[in-house]
Formats: sequence, C-alpha cells, structure tokens
Amino acid sequence: MDFSSAEARFAVEAAQKAALLVRRIQRDLAAEALTKNDRSPVTVADFAAQAVVAAMLADAFPQEPLVAEEAAAALRSPDHAEVAAKVVSYVQTVFPQADADTVLAWIDRGTAEAQGRFWVLDPIDGTKGFLRGDQYAVALALVEDGQVMLGALACPNLRAAREPAKGGEGTLALAMRGQGARWAALEAPTTWQALRVSDERDPARARLLRSFESGHTNAGQIEAVAQALGTAAEPVRMDSQAKYAVLAAGGAEVYLRLLSPSKPDYREKIWDQAAGALIVEEAGGKVTDLDGKPLDFSTGRRLIANRGVLATNGHLHAAVLDALRAVGA
Ligand code: AMP
Ligand code: MG
Repeated sequence: MDFSSAEARFAVEAAQKAALLVRRIQRDLAAEALTKNDRSPVTVADFAAQAVVAAMLADAFPQEPLVAEEAAAALRSPDHAEVAAKVVSYVQTVFPQADADTVLAWIDRGTAEAQGRFWVLDPIDGTKGFLRGDQYAVALALVEDGQVMLGALACPNLRAAREPAKGGEGTLALAMRGQGARWAALEAPTTWQALRVSDERDPARARLLRSFESGHTNAGQIEAVAQALGTAAEPVRMDSQAKYAVLAAGGAEVYLRLLSPSKPDYREKIWDQAAGALIVEEAGGKVTDLDGKPLDFSTGRRLIANRGVLATNGHLHAAVLDALRAVGA
C-alpha cells in the first residue's frame, strides 16, 4: 500500500470532504452558539462528518468495518429532531439524493468491532477547539492487526501543518506505514510536501505541546517535566491531533499527554491517537506511552495496554522518558 493506492485516495478525499463540511458548519453555527453555551453545532458537525466518511467508505470499500465515535441512536429520539434535521440537510450538501434514513444508516456503519482490519474515525477531534474556533481535526486511520497502516488528519485551522491560522487554506496530512508522511493544502490537496520532524537534540531547547483543556492532561507535571529538561519556553496549548501534525512538521519537539489527576485510570480512545501517531512516526519521530511502551492498537476501542502518550522528534525521547520518571508521571 503506497500513496497512490485506493486506500490513500479514499482517505484523502474522505478527510477533505468531511473537513470542508465541518468547517462550513463551524462558520455557520459555532460562534453564536459559544455565547449561549450551546454544544449543538459540534453535535451536528460530528454526525454529519461521520455520515460523509461512512458513505464514502461504503462506496470505496463496501466490506470494510468502520469504528467511529458516534452512533445514530441519539439522533433518532424525538428530542433531537432539530439536530437530526440539520445533520441531514448538511449531509445533503455533499450527497443531495440522501434522505434521513440513509444518513442515519451511514452513521450507524461506524459501530463496528475494533478487530482485524478496520478504519477508525474521529469525525471531530478537539470539539472544544471547534466551538472556540481554535484547532480541531477530522482524523481517519486504517488499522490492521493492531498496527496503524494509514493515518489522515484534516486540520482546517492549521497552515502548512504547523502554524495556527483561522480562515486559511488548512492542512491535510497523510502517512502510510513505511512510506513516510506528507502534507498538502486542505482546500486543494494536489501539491504534497514531505513532513519531517525537527533535528533538535538539546533538551533545553525543546518546544513542548499539550492539550488546551487542562482536564485532558496534568499541567503541573508538564511544568515539572519542562523544568527537569531545562526548557524555558512555556508549553504551547493546542486542541486536537493538530499537535501531532505540528510535531511531524518540525514545529515542536515534544507532545506530552499525561494523565489528568481527576482521571488517573483514563485510557486513550484509539480514534484520538491512531492517525496522528503514525504521521509523527513516518515523519521520523517516536511515539510511545509514558512508560516508553509502543502504542498497542489491538485492544479494542481504547488503548487498554498504554498509559498516556509521549510523542517526540525521536532525538529527545529518552531524555523526556527520564524526566517523566523523575517527576513520577
Ligand atoms: P485534546 O484536544 O488533545 O485535549 O484531545 C481531545 C480528546 O481528549 C477528546 O477527543 C477526548 O476523547 C479526549 N479526552 C477526554 N477526556 C480525557 C481525559 N481525561 N484525558 C485524556 N483525554 C481525554
Ligand atoms: Mg477526539
């Protein structure tokens, strides 16, 4: 499987179509909703994006299972009629012939078992970022027997795979196992450029990435790791797997996903890590859990065998693992 394979072509087209649709929904609905503390735009966008990717998968690879974050059950209840109608009308901007039943059936294709060969989708990773108008991503990956074989990330608010930029052309990043990683402009993904991690070897010069949401990590321990490494710069806070794209593009050296003190037993969901992790590895970086173990995607919908995530440019991996041990993370 390489960049000209049917899998790669499907992943690019599906991630792009879904991301351009959710970007439209973000612009139509999110800003106003934020002031009213209304999360419904992200619900509409989540379901619409999942329907679009599922429909395209059914067309390209009719037999292949999809493991995705959402199920249509909630949308079928009368309480959610308004949201469901919006989902259907946005999906119809991509597939004009689809009726409500078809759209709900597409969404429900995402409830497959995570085993053997399957596609995994986070229709909107970074929902808080989506609502704020910051970073978010459509994340699509292909897993085969516990190994990520392909990862695609569509990041509408990221420029050149590394700089936050609202309203620009966006970034589409794609990795194929053993074939490298590349990026192109989301709006017109025709010219691809290689993704390559930074060459920095000095821990004191490491640039750190962390979740924007403090509840998804351990900010205190990240500070302690930064001190142990001797880095002066503040960790950059960013939502979604856009962090993996930035690391892959050499825009940072270290991404720390520590366990939140309020959820010490949290186990990562596979759709939150699969695409981004392969993109970093294929750009020359290294991804493990906080104990230095490889991520094991053979354990179902969550990474049961792993604690948190450490992604680096490779050169700094051992130093950060030492620092994690030193601070008891
Ligand atoms: P990020 O934007 O990097 O903070 O990651 C967003 C993802 O974090 C969401 O898609 C959630 O699935 C996931 N998440 C939710 N709760 C937690 C938690 N306690 N620790 C780590 N990740 C979480
Ligand atoms: Mg997510």
